[in-house]
Amino acid sequence: MTDTIAAISTAVGPGAVSIVRLSGPGALDIADRVFCGRGRPSTSEHKSVLLGEIIAPDSTPIDQVVLLIMRRPGSYTGEDVVEVSCHGGISAPRLVLRRLIDEGARPAEPGEFTKRAFLNGKMDLAQAEAVSEMVQARSEKALQAAMRQIRGDLSSRIGRMETALLDQIALVEANIDFPDEEIEGVYRPGLEHVLGDLANGLEHLLSSYGKGRFIKEGIEAVIVGKPNVGKSSLFNRLVGKDRVIVSHVPGTTRDVVDAVVPIDGLLVNLHDTAGLLEPRDNIETSAVERTRASLDESDVVMVVIDASQPLDDADAGIVEQTSGKRRMIVFNKIDLEDIEEHFSEAPEVRVSALEGSGMSDLLGELRRISEDLIGDLADEIIISERHAICLREALDGIGRARKGLSEQIPLELIASDLRTALLGLGRITGSNASENLLDEIFSRFCIGK
Ligand code: GDP
Repeated sequence: MTDTIAAISTAVGPGAVSIVRLSGPGALDIADRVFCGRGRPSTSEHKSVLLGEIIAPDSTPIDQVVLLIMRRPGSYTGEDVVEVSCHGGISAPRLVLRRLIDEGARPAEPGEFTKRAFLNGKMDLAQAEAVSEMVQARSEKALQAAMRQIRGDLSSRIGRMETALLDQIALVEANIDFPDEEIEGVYRPGLEHVLGDLANGLEHLLSSYGKGRFIKEGIEAVIVGKPNVGKSSLFNRLVGKDRVIVSHVPGTTRDVVDAVVPIDGLLVNLHDTAGLLEPRDNIETSAVERTRASLDESDVVMVVIDASQPLDDADAGIVEQTSGKRRMIVFNKIDLEDIEEHFSEAPEVRVSALEGSGMSDLLGELRRISEDLIGDLADEIIISERHAICLREALDGIGRARKGLSEQIPLELIASDLRTALLGLGRITGSNASENLLDEIFSRFCIGK
């Protein structure tokens, strides 16, 4: 017998309204005992709205509230659910929650409402995880990707793969029990064909994980250049405030400074570096090392060059050192003078970080590079590392089975590889998820979700 759980589902703090959620077999009775107003929760229809007060045992009013009654199985969790909309802030939701607990509800564990929704078949595991992705999404594109997953796009794709795989396993296993050369001749080419298709589909999905990472975590953009060319000024201009001290003394930025800048529904993690100067002391040596590390991990590099000075070997050296990277050359200080020299190796923009001119060109170039990295978002995208690991497991299993088929190994072994692949897929949608896996996944949720 499951118990009834309660939690504050909204963030605690100043705000107009908070929602306290109650779910389980005792939800309506508990609501009856704490609520006084027009209507009675336990006799209300599914999706009723009741206006009234939450009251103390001696009938003292605690808060004015609106109750939303959702009866099983048509609720989020599949159980009887009461959502109490009370006043926001810290006190009202806490007092309401305390009343519900005093009447027999148990404080919900993180993610427990969604876990119940999963256990009651309201959604599969990939959809349940997308709920958490949705809450944590830091950009518009991350939100869109999570939304598609909540709606079940990924689940149905995985479901189709599971069905196709299961059909083939059935065929192989039937042949182990009743070997028949005629059938063997017919099904083997079909099996090879289906496994080939499945492997392609899995590889395609797996390759989308890189995009998923850009969408979820953002794109790493690093600013490099000689001392004093205006890297920090450019950083501040992009971030929109004076995060970095700008100084005419060369080499003032000793460490890598970071900020997150939203651009067109994506996040760009911007890193201002100490530049790639010749170190004069230990501090500078470690600053250059950090710049190099930051450069290695970057997706985009902005090489800043002083457009008011003739190009020199140091500029050329930095352009040379970043040649393996996706990059743009930013000629800065064009307000002073624009000598109009060029490097042909990379796209360039001409700006004044001081006055702000040319910034829209720079943002346009950054946008173009980001789109290049992310590509077409029309397809399903893997945004979870866990899903990528499961897909890899499925792909490896299918790969071994295909190899085994070509080497004529016994069908038992092929069936076993295909079963391993099926398990990998099943772990994504949760069709064979262990209690441990569920605990691990839902413990990462916030309370009240
Ligand atoms: P960094 O060492 O490359 O980070 O360079 P800073 O951003 O600290 O800038 C060095 C000096 O150049 C400062 O005095 C800035 O005010 C100046 N500076 C930066 N950008 C521009 C610009 O676009 N035009 C002009 N005239 N001066 C700039």
